[in-house]
Amino acid sequence: MRKDHYIANAWVAPSTGQYLDSFDPSNGQVLVQLAQGNATDVDRAVQAAKQALGETFDGPWGRLSAVERSRLLFKLAAAVTEHAEELAQLEAADCGKSLKTARVDATALARYFEYYAGAADKLHGETLPFNAGYTVLTLREPHGVTAHIVPWNYPMQIFGRTVGAALAAGNACVVKPAEDASLSLLRLAELAAEVGFPAGALNVVTGYGREAGNDLTAHPGIDHISFTGSTQTGRLVAHAAAERHCPVTLELGGKSPQIVFDDADLEAALPVLVNAIAQNAGQTCSAGSRALVQRGIYERVLALLVSRFEALQSGPPALQLDMGPLVNRKQFEQVRAMVEQAKAQGIVEAARGRVHPDASAQGFYQEAVLFRDVPPESDIAQKEIFGPVLAVIPFDTEEQAVRIANGTDFGLVAGIWSRDGARQMRVARKMRCGQVFINNYGAGGGVELPFGGVKASGHGREKGFEALYGFTVLKTIAIQHG
Ligand code: NAD
Repeated sequence: MRKDHYIANAWVAPSTGQYLDSFDPSNGQVLVQLAQGNATDVDRAVQAAKQALGETFDGPWGRLSAVERSRLLFKLAAAVTEHAEELAQLEAADCGKSLKTARVDATALARYFEYYAGAADKLHGETLPFNAGYTVLTLREPHGVTAHIVPWNYPMQIFGRTVGAALAAGNACVVKPAEDASLSLLRLAELAAEVGFPAGALNVVTGYGREAGNDLTAHPGIDHISFTGSTQTGRLVAHAAAERHCPVTLELGGKSPQIVFDDADLEAALPVLVNAIAQNAGQTCSAGSRALVQRGIYERVLALLVSRFEALQSGPPALQLDMGPLVNRKQFEQVRAMVEQAKAQGIVEAARGRVHPDASAQGFYQEAVLFRDVPPESDIAQKEIFGPVLAVIPFDTEEQAVRIANGTDFGLVAGIWSRDGARQMRVARKMRCGQVFINNYGAGGGVELPFGGVKASGHGREKGFEALYGFTVLKTIAIQHG
């Protein structure tokens, strides 16, 4: 199978005629050949987006009213729901994720479009009190052409939360999916055309990050960049944006802690602690990859975690087990190397899950791994592994828990498990991160809940209404009328 770019509501072959191989993580075979985008292809997509907007927002997309954009987004949400199974199958094959996870992603995608469809005509400026004789007002205008660089772990969900908000706010989008997982986003661009989005409002250019991704972030026609991915690449993107004074939102992952206090409801906490790292085989930016457990319940929690980890199974997406394979060979080898390095450092592996016998030996299957008594300063407790590896860390006091929880370069999400209301708020206020969950983790995805990081986890907010502000520029108009 070969796939071209999707630009201005049409399939467009790569200007060089070159295609890249994208692999099926469940067996290591080539799944699809993707157009290998370059600067020419990127420019074509940016010009299409500019035309859709028009010089002064007078193009076929730029001149639509908020309610017209809202109606198109509602239609896209309905189309996603109608094609949910097809999209989930594409995503599961492409990313290697369990089909049940991919189905949840398709549902979330429809919900993002629905949410932003409903928000499009409620996004407005203000009138400001000012000196006598003046009326001052603000307008929320789109940036113009927005670039969206999407990783391979949750292509549909990340597309929903960034592109959904950008379109609702009136921007025209150029999307660069990951070379490992582009299929669902190409299909979405096609669906957008089918429901009536004007040509150029939404364009997808595939290719390598170092080529098409880099060309997109460097393109002078891009007015805003939204990047989700690794801290290292995020830094490159931020540099490219700085060269052109281009605003940028970075969502760069984390090393998120869940703090389990002595008084926690363990029955409620245990499945959530496990799911927060097993979900998508740990390839989740907000994965709960550190469990900080208070000394009084440490051995009990550990024993419960051990039995749950030993039961975790990885296998082909269609079997709908706990986990599928990791996305590619590089990721697979990286995770294995980090696990081996931790063991070589003397960190104790307390439990390991298993791989289903039907899994191909050529697939990138990694068992879930549980490490105990992990020193907070060790690599396994500091670095983003992006695999199903949980570091369990004991602590004695609340102060110590806060120090360990905040003691990494990252700051994306934290979980707190305690029945003590005062402690819940005290600790939540001290967390240096973008989201805190008390007696839950992730709140079931939370399309409505602003999401993003501090420190090396990035900056800017996605999801919820807050994302819409990020995709607009505020213009102030002061009228002197005496
Ligand atoms: P990456 O950051 O390199 O890739 C993410 C996206 O950026 C892809 O679409 C890629 O094509 C693009 N890209 C790569 N180089 C680029 C460049 N120079 N300019 C513009 N775009 C570029 O991530 P990766 O190599 O796929 O994975 C490496 C690590 O990143 C993982 O092991 C994991 O730790 C982390 N990661 C985090 C997230 C997240 O959601 N925060 C997602 C994926 C990967």
